[in-house]
Amino acid sequence: MNAAARPLQLLDLDRRSLEGALAARGYQRFHAGQIFQWVYRRAVTDPAAMTDLPRELRQTLAAEAVVALPALASRDISVDGTEKFLFELDDRRRIESVFIPDTPAMTFCISTQVGCAMACAFCLTGRMGLVRQLTAGEIVGQVLALARHVDLAGKPFNVVFMGMGEPLHNYDETMTALRILTDAHGFAIGPRRITLSTVGLPPAIERLGREPIMPNIAVSLHAPTDALRAELVPIARKYGIADIIAVCKRLPLRKRSRITFEYVLLAGVNDRLQDARRLARLLGGLKSKVNLIPLNEAPGIPFRRPSDEAIDAFARTLADHGAVVSVRKSRGRDIRAACGQLIVEGSRKSAAQRLAVRM
Ligand code: SAH
Repeated sequence: MNAAARPLQLLDLDRRSLEGALAARGYQRFHAGQIFQWVYRRAVTDPAAMTDLPRELRQTLAAEAVVALPALASRDISVDGTEKFLFELDDRRRIESVFIPDTPAMTFCISTQVGCAMACAFCLTGRMGLVRQLTAGEIVGQVLALARHVDLAGKPFNVVFMGMGEPLHNYDETMTALRILTDAHGFAIGPRRITLSTVGLPPAIERLGREPIMPNIAVSLHAPTDALRAELVPIARKYGIADIIAVCKRLPLRKRSRITFEYVLLAGVNDRLQDARRLARLLGGLKSKVNLIPLNEAPGIPFRRPSDEAIDAFARTLADHGAVVSVRKSRGRDIRAACGQLIVEGSRKSAAQRLAVRM
């Protein structure tokens, strides 16, 4: 099969690219907006049903393009209403996405990689190593599939890039997905309704700050000193906390918006009140909030969740020292859908491979 015969993956294309693909086939560019509306707003994937398109274009699309949605392999529902979706991709690799209702918004948590190269010490996904990057279409496809399965097509919802993988380690595909998710002709999700969570890669955060679309940013800090952070987050050996704070200070922020710093609380490791005071000091002068995530324990993860009293004391100390604090309520723990619990393959990479992060 030659390259020209390979079908056009519609979900991989932001509107401008789709316009280019249409123009190359002799069609008017504005049809791209119509196609976006069918696919993303009405969840219609069969070109034959796109009734406002010229017949010839419908035929061309049917012959040359596909909307490849990830196939649903399984779906688990938690007692708290959270749902975990296991999706199978074209090459049979599997990823997970999570639907979290009523937080108070409806929220879709999506993955950007199969596995992850970051190998954070408390995260199950990190144990898989990086299996492969997801394409923009596979990222957007999760949102489309979730919207269909939970019946939210055309309705408002939030999206968090907090599933498997490090979104800024799959920068270009993640940005294409962001352009598609926010496009006014498609889902039209406002950037304020999207949160991208990153392990903290300063060059990529810097680049993100220059993009026309700025989602909310959450940075996984997890420790107030480089020495402790390096024990938990291997990439901390490359980028210091000071570099991360400096780049965050330069990020253009919308009015009233703050950068979130995530902090997984591990009993006896990073939950001392002295850690809270240091953390508050670090964030002084930055429009920020701290989101404490009490560890979701899992077999093979060598840490413990602190007691509720210890969590409260840590939160109170942070607040007393001027930080804005919230404690993340764990959702879907009974179905292993909570933060850090997503894992779908047994493959493990060597430590060297896991650390070979190309930026
Ligand atoms: N790569 C991104 C997204 C990771 S998942 C990042 O590093 O931010 C979102 C959050 O869940 C991160 O803050 C991550 O550190 C946290 N997390 C990972 N494992 C966890 C666990 N076992 N318990 C609680 N939070 C965890």
